[in-house]
Amino acid sequence: MSCELPQVSTEIIIKKSRKEHKCCECYKVVPKGSSYQNISGIWAGEGATYKTCLDCMRLRNWACIQFKIGYLDDTGPGFGNLNEWLRDWDVDPEHQRQILKGEKEQCNSKEKEDDQKKTKK
Ligand SMILES: [Zn+2]
Repeated sequence: MSCELPQVSTEIIIKKSRKEHKCCECYKVVPKGSSYQNISGIWAGEGATYKTCLDCMRLRNWACIQFKIGYLDDTGPGFGNLNEWLRDWDVDPEHQRQILKGEKEQCNSKEKEDDQKKTKK
């Protein structure tokens, strides 16, 4: 009887911060009132929440596409390990962030829509 999977519910949403948060990837402060990605779930039996700024969220999305990994794959970058993980692949995370920022305008409006839907109570 070992085929039972632990119940894992992972939620990835974009929230508006009601107070300052620190990004778990770049350690920059997400100012009050700005959007960030909130990931909560259960890892190894422990509930945890990770907060990621939108720059890092884009970087992670990019990495998932680039290296063909699922968002929560074991082989992918763990939360808080994105920079390290990318360096292993000879990617400069800071440089890549800048590139992705340059494309910000293209997907911004969609993000805002999603944001509004999800922050509505
Ligand atoms: Zn960040």
